[in-house]
Amino acid sequence: MAEHCTNDRQPTFSKPKVELHVHLDGAIRIDTILDVAKQRGILLPADTVAALKGLCTVSEPATLTEFLGKFNQYMHVIAGDRKAIKRIAYEFVEAKAKEGVAYVEVRYSPHFLANSGVEPIPWDQKEGDVTPDEVVRLVNEGLSEGEKAFKVKARSILCCMRHMPNWSMEVVELCKKYRNDGVVAIDLAGDESMNCVAYPGHRNAYEEAVKCGIHRTVHAGEVGPPSVVKEAVDVLKAERIGHGYHTVEDQALYRRLLENNMHFEICPVSSKLTGACDPDFTKHPLIKFKKDKANYSLNTDDPLIFNSTLDTDYATVQKYMGFTDEDFKRLNINAAQASFLPEKEKKDLLNLLYNAYDMVDSTEL
Ligand SMILES: [Zn+2]
Repeated sequence: MAEHCTNDRQPTFSKPKVELHVHLDGAIRIDTILDVAKQRGILLPADTVAALKGLCTVSEPATLTEFLGKFNQYMHVIAGDRKAIKRIAYEFVEAKAKEGVAYVEVRYSPHFLANSGVEPIPWDQKEGDVTPDEVVRLVNEGLSEGEKAFKVKARSILCCMRHMPNWSMEVVELCKKYRNDGVVAIDLAGDESMNCVAYPGHRNAYEEAVKCGIHRTVHAGEVGPPSVVKEAVDVLKAERIGHGYHTVEDQALYRRLLENNMHFEICPVSSKLTGACDPDFTKHPLIKFKKDKANYSLNTDDPLIFNSTLDTDYATVQKYMGFTDEDFKRLNINAAQASFLPEKEKKDLLNLLYNAYDMVDSTEL
């Protein structure tokens, strides 16, 4: 089957990679969901990996509602369970090690994994005692143990949700509290039709992030128009753009972001299956980004839901957009440079890539 091919064959780009845009709750193993459900006595509508996979994944371009509905299938199994939350973080690092990732920034909404101190309590859970704060601690522990076990560097980004502006100030406070414990940035995810003029909670949180030196990325221009990207850059002071495909529809904005070397977190497989872009990859905006030597990375976004690995994205752009090993090296160096690591660690990561790619660090010549 297609999935077997992806797992067994030589990876498209076998050198160390950097991934900047992947959701922890969209990257859970199916067998873990089944296992945790069994332990917690939660009845799922499917009891085999194959059957549950069928319910949790999309294989054809879907609507936003269909896509979001996939999270409803399993989030209630993991949320509110301390062992499960730590486990998915640990297993995430293991999966990235297998994909040849040297450094990953993984993102999630702490509120979506909590069952206490969150209003409303998500996924129809009963109230419990796992708060968003404890969720962050558990994920930090899982990632940190995973780092040691699998020799992958993993940092996290905490997500605000567009439809929940009242959570955002707490998200930035968690970023501040855990900035020395693996949390490197704040993100804003969800329905792009909800802008920050109407929902000032996000703007206030991002102002606080700027004030406190918390790094900032924003999902923008994925499905939404270029105006959402403009708002992300001008109002929320985003340093990177999640997706940003529709930026190209506003020439002036696109040119400005190219000049400013804005980093775009591109997720090719995701962009097709969420209906964000034309399903014909030969018409993908990434082709323009590549031609214009834009600054971007390649990312999985939600590999559980797209039944994909990072290699699926690399293979896709190789096959349909003519990406070569040189292109892969360049975009991974851009990803490392756009990472939210402190300068010293960023330099170490860049050196690791330069060595693995047989390149000399041009800044040191
Ligand atoms: Zn995303």
